Amino acid sequence: MNHGQENLWAPWRMEYVRQLDPKDDKQETGCFLCRALAAAEVEAGERQAAMRGHLTLLADARGGIVLNKFPYTTGHLLIAPRQHVADLTDLEPRQRAELMELVVLAEQLVRTAYNPQGLNIGVNIGRCAGAGLPGHIHLHVVPRWSGDSNFMQTIGHVRVIPQALEQSYEQLSDTLAAMGAAAKG
Ligand SMILES: [Zn+2]
Repeated sequence: MNHGQENLWAPWRMEYVRQLDPKDDKQETGCFLCRALAAAEVEAGERQAAMRGHLTLLADARGGIVLNKFPYTTGHLLIAPRQHVADLTDLEPRQRAELMELVVLAEQLVRTAYNPQGLNIGVNIGRCAGAGLPGHIHLHVVPRWSGDSNFMQTIGHVRVIPQALEQSYEQLSDTLAAMGAAAKG
């Protein structure tokens, strides 16, 4: 029986995830976080679909909040700065402060949408630390419930079904809009 933390930060997971979806990120140019942030900049008529397609919940001058395509739990969010840099030390102090504002907003969003019993907020730097995307620093906000690691263990070897992701996206997007923090058109 694993503890949740062992599952949560297991370095092998992103390699496993890559095998599940080999076309993701490897055949498309650029990094998926940059693409997710850019989705908010397409023309107004197509923006909503573009953001949904990239699971982008919010993107602005500071960076963005993106629903993790391969979540550990429902509502697992990724928070990335606008700058495509590999490390927190690559950001200016102001950019780090803005990134933390987005992290706090993501925490509020997850609390409002899911009322979790706890949260993990963290960052993996480097592949050996479990980072799946070394080129673009990002923080994880992961809502937790007691017993969820057991649940995830049970389903951890099958792909998370797309419908669940879409439902999560809709719920989080609606919640964000209700909080008055949606990306400005
Ligand atoms: Zn990037």
